[in-house]
Amino acid sequence: MRAVASVHMADKITLGADGALVVPDEPIIPFVEGDGIGIDIWPAAKSVLDAAAAKHGRRIAWLEVLAGEKAYNETGDWLPADTISAFDEHLIGIKGPLTTPVGGGFRSLNVAIRQIMDLYVCLRPVRWFRGVPSPVREPHLVDMVIFRENTEDIYAGLEVPSGSPEAARLIELLHDAFGWEIRADAGVGIKPVSKFGSQRLQRAALSYALRRGRKRVHWVHKGNIMKFTEGAFRGWGYELVREEFADVAVAWEDCGGDAGDKILVQDTIADIALQQVLTRPAEFDVIATMNLNGDYISDALAAQVGGIGIAPGANINYVTGHGVFEATHGTAPRYAGQDKVNPSSVLLSGALMFEHLGWQDAADDIIAAVEATIGDGIVTYDFARLTEGATEVKCSEFAAAIIDRL
Ligand code: NAP
Repeated sequence: MRAVASVHMADKITLGADGALVVPDEPIIPFVEGDGIGIDIWPAAKSVLDAAAAKHGRRIAWLEVLAGEKAYNETGDWLPADTISAFDEHLIGIKGPLTTPVGGGFRSLNVAIRQIMDLYVCLRPVRWFRGVPSPVREPHLVDMVIFRENTEDIYAGLEVPSGSPEAARLIELLHDAFGWEIRADAGVGIKPVSKFGSQRLQRAALSYALRRGRKRVHWVHKGNIMKFTEGAFRGWGYELVREEFADVAVAWEDCGGDAGDKILVQDTIADIALQQVLTRPAEFDVIATMNLNGDYISDALAAQVGGIGIAPGANINYVTGHGVFEATHGTAPRYAGQDKVNPSSVLLSGALMFEHLGWQDAADDIIAAVEATIGDGIVTYDFARLTEGATEVKCSEFAAAIIDRL
């Protein structure tokens, strides 16, 4: 799916016949403020997003929808059906962090939203902003985009607890059917990885690389050990390159590493990848991987460029056009209401949303203004404690400084 044609009217975003989003100049965008620090970061981020949109003659008709504690307090429901309907109807939404309800029937509200809406790609771009404190020597070499599969793998929630009748039954069944020996006191989880699930994720990664002029795509997997799940992911990825992308991409083993003008597609074992993204970051560009690997890799990479306070993210279904953009950190409840924390994660998720809508000019402006602000040493507490000589400002003041530099 690609964005975007403009039709100059305040209305819903829709999906065109060609699979591209049709975005009016005044799109209605549902948002969830978020729990905990959501009350600090959302208004700050929104002020910057509004200013950047206005600079280019656009406006967002924000539509508040409820999830998390605010929803529970007002409706008795952690994730009201109306919220899912609004995201469904308007295609694109954005959200702050949500508390994971304890005993509320959800493993996580975020996971629930992804699963209900079949948002199969978790998109996490990872790049360094000048001035951001980093634990590595050359953070400017980090410019990667992670496509993490969101619906399958050991994260699918197909697991039974140790000692339960369900576990006993599954262990017995696996013994009888396959002769597998599993200890009687084991908890057991199932790891489904399908061709359909793998290839739609890999297709999204390759299409993104093509649209954005990215030159390398890595399949990251543990196929050397988990041959029929992670190994199959690798194989299906190469099959897809040969069958659907042969005119624009080529597998390493089909070209010896010389892809010419085409996108070079290769694969790396996950443990080696976690080393190499640190030691040779310039060699990584677009990474596509399964759910669990993607979770580790995206946080490890985010740490190189300033951590979760600044890392943006999105959950997307490129076929239906649905996308929910989100802060990648949690609700940090001990800072809630103090106007203290860094709003960059949800703000940059908003910039990513603008990019996705085809508002590249406004997205570029936000990124440049964030970089200029941090470059001028104006930062929130999390960066101030790591940056000598920086001026620590409040969350809202940081947003105001960014708007000044738009
Ligand atoms: P967390 O809320 O992400 O906070 C952990 C630490 O990360 C904070 O104490 C703070 O570190 C730093 N941090 C987080 N956001 C920051 C920001 N905007 N600016 C600066 N620093 C920031 O993780 P948690 O304490 O494990 O989880 C709290 C709740 O959030 C739980 O209910 C959890 O389930 C939920 N959660 C939600 C999401 C989501 O909605 N996507 C994701 C993760 C967790 P320092 O104290 O060192 O400054």
